[in-house]
Amino acid sequence: MRILLSLLAGAVALFAQGNADWHAAFPAFKVAGNLYYVGTADLAVYLINTPQGNILINSDFEEDVPTIKKSIEQLGFKYGDTKIILISHAHGDHDAATGIIKKDTGAKLMIMDADVAEEQSTAKGRPGAKVDRILHDGDTVELGGSKLVAHLTPGHTKGCTTWTMQVRDGARTLNAVIVGSPNVNPGYILVGNKDYPGIADDYVKTFAVLKSLPCDLFLGAHGAYFGLKAKYQKMKAGDANAFIDPDGYKAYVAERDSTFRKEWERQKQNAGTPAK
Ligand SMILES: [Zn+2]
Repeated sequence: MRILLSLLAGAVALFAQGNADWHAAFPAFKVAGNLYYVGTADLAVYLINTPQGNILINSDFEEDVPTIKKSIEQLGFKYGDTKIILISHAHGDHDAATGIIKKDTGAKLMIMDADVAEEQSTAKGRPGAKVDRILHDGDTVELGGSKLVAHLTPGHTKGCTTWTMQVRDGARTLNAVIVGSPNVNPGYILVGNKDYPGIADDYVKTFAVLKSLPCDLFLGAHGAYFGLKAKYQKMKAGDANAFIDPDGYKAYVAERDSTFRKEWERQKQNAGTPAK
């Protein structure tokens, strides 16, 4: 019993801290064209550089802002040139610092409709940041000749957003996909969820959307989704195409889809079993 309790305490502590990579610095680098990585070793932040200023996707936690700022400056850009802030979804590891960055830079915060209430919430761990533009599925965000498309990929949160962008890289154009999150977190209720009745159907929709997106550059809200560290090493070793991974993207979406369906099936079975 004591061992079990200490294991549980350990698991809770680990969950509260998150992954060790969450707050670890990571080298800033160019993914392709005007798309850059300025996040931590796992919490991805992307910068799109344009002649009219920069777009940031994700803010991470408040404590990660100095790391992000340093990365932006190491690339030769100015933190103060941040004009637009976008997010993958309204969870603290991606958006807790949106209010701080907005205050620091005067950037406009643009959020998918169904995540707006969470974004503006002042509950513990929520940014309480005023949303300047409410986005809807398929809306575009444009700045200085760059255009991002907001795809509603709900389930993980109601307004979870997958961003796509055509990146001009030299003579070629690459389709970038920044996955919002296809994950069913521990404790998520897929059957009989009173707060989110349509959650399972939303995941089904999300996987259909993800499967439909053309993808060259496979990216996402966490580095772990797309193998950030290994691909960065490959790039450092001279492979200019390290982040071009259409097959990896397809395999990832298929694996996440099957994991979701197994969990959904498991919960349906349990729901059908009368309580003893
Ligand atoms: Zn999340």
